[in-house]
Amino acid sequence: MTDDKIRVEPFEHGCKACQWAGWTYHRGRWGNMYVCSGDGGTVLIRYSDEPSDYWSVMVGTRKYTLDLEGEEAKEYIGKRDLYKRWHEGDYDSVYNEYELDMETRAHHTKMLNKLAERKAKKEGETR
Ligand SMILES: [Zn+2]
Repeated sequence: MTDDKIRVEPFEHGCKACQWAGWTYHRGRWGNMYVCSGDGGTVLIRYSDEPSDYWSVMVGTRKYTLDLEGEEAKEYIGKRDLYKRWHEGDYDSVYNEYELDMETRAHHTKMLNKLAERKAKKEGETR
C-alpha cells in the first residue's frame, strides 16, 4: 500500500442485537451499516467509534423526500441525467463526458452486441 492508502477497520459498536450489513457511503461519509432487531427493528449507520456518531431509522418508516441544494443538487442532477442518457442508449455523450479511450468504447460496443445476440437467440428459442 502507498502512503495515500488506508485500511479502515469497522468502527466500535456494542449493541448485541445488531447484525453487520457492510460498509456504506451515506451523507457524504463512509459508515458501517447494521440491522438491529431491538426496539421493533432499526437500520443504523455508524460513522466512527464515537458512540453518538450514527444515523438510524425505524424499519417501516414512511418514505420521505430528500432536499438537496448547491453542489449536492448539481451532483445529483448530473448523475441522474447521465443514467438517463445511458439508459436511452446515448452512449457517445457518456463516453465523451468521461473521456473514455477508444479501446474501452470498442470493448463496451462488443459487449452490447453480445448481449443483443444473446437476447435475440433467447427470443428465438421461446417461439
Ligand atoms: Zn442494535
